[in-house]
Amino acid sequence: MSKSVLIVGGGTAGWITAAYMARMLAADTPGGVSITLVESDEIGILGVGEGTFPIIRKTMSRIGLDESELIRDADATFKQGIRFNHWKKNPAECPDDTYFHPFQVASQHTDMDLLPYWLLGVAGEVPWAEACTVQERVVESSLAPKLITHSNYNAPLNYAYHFDASKLAEVVRKRATSMGVRRLIDTVEDVKLDEQGAIASVIGRTHGELTADLYIDCTGFRARLIGETLGSEFTSYRDQLFCNRAVALQVPYEQPGCPIPSCTYATAQEAGWTWDIGLHNRRGIGYVYSSDHCSDDEAAATLKRYIGPAADNLTPRQLAFEAGFRKIQWHKNCVGIGLSVGFIEPLEATGISFAEVAALMLCNLFPWSGDTELSAKQFNAAMTKRFEHVIDFIKLHYYLSERTDTAFWRENRAPETASDNLKNKLEQWRHRPPSFLDIDASHDIFDENSWQYILYGMDFKTDISARADALRFYDDARQEFENIRKQSENAMNAVPTHRDLVSEVVTNG
Ligand code: FAD
Repeated sequence: MSKSVLIVGGGTAGWITAAYMARMLAADTPGGVSITLVESDEIGILGVGEGTFPIIRKTMSRIGLDESELIRDADATFKQGIRFNHWKKNPAECPDDTYFHPFQVASQHTDMDLLPYWLLGVAGEVPWAEACTVQERVVESSLAPKLITHSNYNAPLNYAYHFDASKLAEVVRKRATSMGVRRLIDTVEDVKLDEQGAIASVIGRTHGELTADLYIDCTGFRARLIGETLGSEFTSYRDQLFCNRAVALQVPYEQPGCPIPSCTYATAQEAGWTWDIGLHNRRGIGYVYSSDHCSDDEAAATLKRYIGPAADNLTPRQLAFEAGFRKIQWHKNCVGIGLSVGFIEPLEATGISFAEVAALMLCNLFPWSGDTELSAKQFNAAMTKRFEHVIDFIKLHYYLSERTDTAFWRENRAPETASDNLKNKLEQWRHRPPSFLDIDASHDIFDENSWQYILYGMDFKTDISARADALRFYDDARQEFENIRKQSENAMNAVPTHRDLVSEVVTNG
């Protein structure tokens, strides 16, 4: 018998889930799952969240969205990584403190692992991210990750997107409805439970009682079903990740046609960090901070100082959140996806990725037989691991900092603010670099490459001198570092600027 799903909430999480399920569970065929999404026109979507991680390409491709449509209609640009400024040292003492987290993995042109050679100084003083891939230099020159002739979602360099969050939800909505998802505009006012404590129906103000076999809570921080009704507990990780506020602005470019950065800038500030993202015609800029270390007014002033005169007549938007998640995200016939079940500050743009992996997992664990217990158990265990591992990864950025200029940075280095898991990993990495063995491939959003980029970007020391004589390919490694340097130079002439690629896609798609 055909199954039905009711998604409550039409933000990015709701529409990505709807599109994913429609595609994977054949919403437009008689034997497939029928999907309805109900969204309120009184409660808006969060509308921030402009950075992504490369798995977004797989998601967009799987739901059958054309890349040029995404670029054109969601104002999307190409993101090749994150540049971190002022994370390592006190800015007054080290004004040029910077490192890059590229999305491209270290060169795998040869079978050789280049990292041990880099650790032993074979690449000289060149930072790891610059030594092992051309991407850092490509980004520094505001170049694109690919040529216009590269097809949908393909490129020699790995990338994700920046986009206008509200427009993205619309683009994905169009795709989902074209695949058979039914859309209702309504505000859910009540949720009824059956005798077993599962959801029996949700009550919309206009459409009345709505029923389904499975209910998906995508109501954002409200968590109307999974939190408010079913009482799934939220576990805070604020003792590890202090930031709990953001203040954001949209700023037009000073010069039309100026270069569009192909990375996010994450600049550490007194009590947090600012994001700076370039779209087609404007920048999205925000300050993520800890309310224990800075007032809202101070944060707005810091943001305006960062932006300069372009912010003069603009009113920033304030947002509140808490780092943490619900360990029960699937309870009986209800699954929470998106902000309803958790949020970790957007330093590595993981918000939408969590929704993507949850939607993927849900499709794979879909309870065709009606029994949800085992699927729920597996889903909850997997999401818990994912969140915990991402929390460790984000904490790493703060924990390795040597900044002492404000209480925020000093307190972030206290051992009791990092998990035992993270501290154990760091202990091991004092004598060997992170490898695939440290990664749980089915649960980790960030693989060993990302861990390496942050560790060595932050000047972490791994002492492998005891291994030095056992390494045999010094000349090959030297040659490969040289090849990468030359390829970077060649890329300067071969690749279009980021703005040219975006304009070309928008104009000629
Ligand atoms: P929302 O966007 O809040 O949508 C909730 C939906 O539920 C709305 O449609 C609303 O109408 C509906 N709704 C609520 N209650 C009811 C009801 N009773 N009845 C009917 N409908 C209802 N993520 C990233 O990946 N990258 C980033 O760079 C990033 N930056 C961020 C910066 C900040 C400061 C914050 C706070 C978050 C950021 N995120 C980022 C997270 C990202 O914004 C969210 O993951 C994403 O927007 C998904 O949100 P959502 O769909 O879960 O919730």
